[in-house]
Amino acid sequence: MDKEDALTMDKCSFCGREKKEVNLLIAGMEGHICDRCIEQAYTIVEEEFKSDKEFDLNGLKLLKPREIKEFLDQYVIGQDQAKKILSVAVYNHYKRLTQKVQNDETEIEKSNIILVGETGTGKTLLARTVAKMLHVPFTIVDATVLTEAGYVGEDIESLLTRLLQAADYNVEAAERGIVFIDEIDKIARKGDNPSITRDVSGEGVQQGLLKLLEGSVVNVPPQGGRKHPEQKMIPVNTKNILFVCGGAFDGIEKKISKRLNTAVVGYGAQKSVEKIDRKNILQYISPQDLKTFGLIPEIIGRLPVLTYLQPLDREALRNILTEPKNSIIKQYVKLFGLDNIELTFTDDALEFIVDKAVEFKLGARGLRSICESIMIDAMFDSPTEGIKELLITRDYAERKIDPGSTQRLRAI
Ligand code: ADP
Repeated sequence: MDKEDALTMDKCSFCGREKKEVNLLIAGMEGHICDRCIEQAYTIVEEEFKSDKEFDLNGLKLLKPREIKEFLDQYVIGQDQAKKILSVAVYNHYKRLTQKVQNDETEIEKSNIILVGETGTGKTLLARTVAKMLHVPFTIVDATVLTEAGYVGEDIESLLTRLLQAADYNVEAAERGIVFIDEIDKIARKGDNPSITRDVSGEGVQQGLLKLLEGSVVNVPPQGGRKHPEQKMIPVNTKNILFVCGGAFDGIEKKISKRLNTAVVGYGAQKSVEKIDRKNILQYISPQDLKTFGLIPEIIGRLPVLTYLQPLDREALRNILTEPKNSIIKQYVKLFGLDNIELTFTDDALEFIVDKAVEFKLGARGLRSICESIMIDAMFDSPTEGIKELLITRDYAERKIDPGSTQRLRAI
C-alpha cells in the first residue's frame, strides 16, 4: 500500500473527516462513509421518497393552472408561454385521472406535450418540476438510444422500465407518472438519406412510440434490456402516463419562416408579413412544421400540446444563477454553510459567469460547469483551512476558471 492509499483510507469519502473525528467509519469497496454522512444521506433519501410513498390518486391535491404556474415560477426562469400551456395541459391531464368515467360520458383524451427549444433552455427542468409538484414518478429517456426491437440499442419498452424503477416498482404509481423523452427531434424521419436502408432509429422508433403515447398495455421487462430473457414481464397501462417530449429541432425556424412566407402570399400579405416578429420565429411553430422536420403525422397527433421555449438571454442567465429556489449559487452557499463558511459572490463575479456561459453558447447548461470550475479549489481547500468567510470576486473567478474546463466546454 503506498502512502497516498494510507492517507485516503481512514477518511470519510464524502465529508473528508478523519476516523478520529467521527464516531463510526464504514468501509465500502472504494471508500468510506462516516455516521454523520449516513444520517444526512438518510434524511435526503427520506425527503425525496416521502411524497412518492404517500401518492394516492384520491388524495392528489390538484393545483389550478395558475397555481401550477406559480409553482413552476419558483424553479424556472422566464418561459412564460411554455409554463402557461404546460400548466393547463397538466391540470387537464390530472383532472382527467380523477374523473370517474361513466360509459355515456365524454372521455377526455390525454394531452401529451411537446416542447421545442434550444438545449439548456429548461425543457427537462419544466417536466421535472411538474413531477416534483405532483409527487409522481418521473423519468428521462433519451430518444436517441431507442431502436426498433431486434436492433442494437434499447427497446422502446425500456422507457417504461425506467419509470417502474423510479416508482420503486409500484405499478399503480408508475401508471400515473411522467416520462420525459428528450431529443425527440433526433428520431425524425431520415427518408431522404439514401445511405440508410432501414430507418431503425428514426421512423421505426416513432412507430414504436405510438402505442405507448396513445395508451395501451405494454409488457415491460422489469430489469430492462435484453440481458435477462428469463425475467417475468410486468404489464403497464400507459393510458394515464403523461409523456412530455423535448427537442431542439435545429433549423426549424427556417421551416417556420418558409411556411409563414408562403402562407401569406396574396391578398393582405403585406400586412401579415409586417406583423411577424422575426426575432422570435419559434413562437409561430405549428404541428405542420414538426411534420416538415420529419416527425410522422401519427406521432404529432399523439402530442397535441405543442409549445416552445425561448433562448435564454443574459438577464435570464443571470437570474437563473441566483433566483430559483434551488439556484446554483444558493446551493454553493448552502454547501459552504454546512462547513460554517459564509460564501458570497460579488455582482461582477456573477456577470463574469454569465459572460462565459454566453460565450460557450450552452444556455443555462454551461452555468454549473463554469461555477464548478471556479469553485473546485475553494471546495477542496476551505474545509481544512478553517476559514470563516469566502468572497468570490471577478478577479478570483477569472483566475480560477481553468483552461482545461474552458476547452472542454468549448468542445461540447
Ligand atoms: P433542456 O432540457 O432544455 O436542454 P434543461 O432543462 O436540462 O435544458 O436545463 C439544464 C439546466 O439549466 C437545468 O438543470 C437548470 O439548472 C438550468 N436551466 C435551464 N433553463 C432554465 C430556466 N429557464 N430557469 C432556471 N434554470 C434553468
